[in-house]
Amino acid sequence: MKADADPNLIVYFDGRYMPLRDARVGILTHALHYGTGVFEGIRAHWDKEQEDLFVLKPREHYERWNRNCGILRIHVPASAAELCAITVELMRRNAFHTNVYVRPLAYKSAERVGVSTDDEDAFAVIALPFGEYLHSDKGLHAGVSSWRRIEDNAIPARAKICGAYVNSALATDEAHACGFDEAIFLNESGHVAEGATCNIFMMRNGNLITPAVTENALEGITRASVMELAQRELGLRVVARAIDRSELYVCDELFFTGTAVGVAPLVRVA
Ligand code: PMP
Repeated sequence: MKADADPNLIVYFDGRYMPLRDARVGILTHALHYGTGVFEGIRAHWDKEQEDLFVLKPREHYERWNRNCGILRIHVPASAAELCAITVELMRRNAFHTNVYVRPLAYKSAERVGVSTDDEDAFAVIALPFGEYLHSDKGLHAGVSSWRRIEDNAIPARAKICGAYVNSALATDEAHACGFDEAIFLNESGHVAEGATCNIFMMRNGNLITPAVTENALEGITRASVMELAQRELGLRVVARAIDRSELYVCDELFFTGTAVGVAPLVRVA
């Protein structure tokens, strides 16, 4: 799903709440040219019975954001608790009565030409109504991408770095052109890394297996929750290890995890 936002939506930008239509950046903004931003994706679920919104693991997302911003030396001048409070205030001001996606974005904000970075940083938090990202009720079709996952020594995949998403956009575009719902990335070693926008799990011989975070996968928060729940609630043995491409074809089950996709079963891999 693509979420087109209402220009009247209230967002947090430049240290205050304002309508989306007023939240603008200049054409020379460093991050726009060089991809020097770090973002997050957080879900809030609307509970019809309780008539309330429940934000899922915001503290974990903001802590990951802060750690990942450190890779690019972007400073977010707010604590995780303050960022959670901004998120809740956005829910209130927009009076959402539906599922919501929250998009924090921190970036190099200097308006000039030249790739070298400096200390001019900015951040925004946007919350918008958001339905299903991939329609997974009948199971998803995925194709192994001809694009390889970015290497940690080039652009770290463990962080949600804006520029790194060119890699995901290329793979998604290819997957859609080939009629798939989502792409599966292999890394330069030929091992399975993750989906273009989600982590991947496989069931094999009763074990739940997912690529180790050193395989150039995002350190997903849904991934961590699924690993914990599978172990604690289902008593499964959970293993993080390298996965060969051919294991995708011989395993018993496959599914994707992520804030946008949730837990989505795969029914076909090509
Ligand atoms: N991998 C990639 C490339 C992603 O963009 C995402 C979405 N954030 C994920 C995995 C899943 O991570 P999370 O569960 O933290 O949303």
